[in-house]
Amino acid sequence: MAVIAVPQLKDNFAYLVADDDSGECGVVDCAEADKVLSEVERHGLNLVAVLSTHWHADHVGGNLQLVQAAPSVRVYGARAEGGRIPGITDEVDGGDMVWAGPLGGEVIGIPAHTNGHVAYYFSTLKALFCGDTLFVGGCGRLFEGGAATMMASLAKLAALPDDTLVYCGHEYTQKNLEFALTLEPKNRALREKYEWAVQTRRQNKWTVPSTIGEEKSYNPFLRTDSPELRASLKRLDPALGDDPVAIFARTRELKDRFA
Ligand code: ZN
Ligand code: FE
Repeated sequence: MAVIAVPQLKDNFAYLVADDDSGECGVVDCAEADKVLSEVERHGLNLVAVLSTHWHADHVGGNLQLVQAAPSVRVYGARAEGGRIPGITDEVDGGDMVWAGPLGGEVIGIPAHTNGHVAYYFSTLKALFCGDTLFVGGCGRLFEGGAATMMASLAKLAALPDDTLVYCGHEYTQKNLEFALTLEPKNRALREKYEWAVQTRRQNKWTVPSTIGEEKSYNPFLRTDSPELRASLKRLDPALGDDPVAIFARTRELKDRFA
């Protein structure tokens, strides 16, 4: 069993989720079908499922071409995306199972970036595919939901086992951690991850996956209770209270302006 990252567009990832025995695989998100199909072929796999995390074109733009190339593929996506996932065959809700051949994944509803954003969690692989909700060191923008909704979505992901591998939708790590350092400059785990990310990118390597345990140690969007983060925010706005949602919202606003 393996997860294979397939870079897409400028900084997106598609991921193949492959079962070695059957040779069957699914792909989580696809913008550029050609690149995905050639990876499928190069590994001698058979594409049987498309798992879409949310409706944005940089995640589903390749769906129809995949369906054309492999007409029997199942295309999973959230019912709550309201028909915006091209080629969808199976509308899913949180708690449903999806199948990449014999590999079963659980759907976790994590709205806010989009209203029907979902993650796919394969416990047998210890792998979480979370699209544009949780990034290494960051979180997605609040396009279709507010801060409280995003916090609740992230809390579901943070509740997974610490050794869960986090496969997110974009290579945003270095910029995310640069921002995080403005709020928690003394956080040692954060500083070390940042230095690692800079080195890794310098070598043209990817920074995915991280783990849920790691994310809890440096991701500001999972750290609204960090005293250092709170103190940094209060220095900018002494009127900011202790409400975690307000702290989260302010952190998100600052990140929107940072990059
Ligand atoms: Zn998106
Ligand atoms: Fe995206």
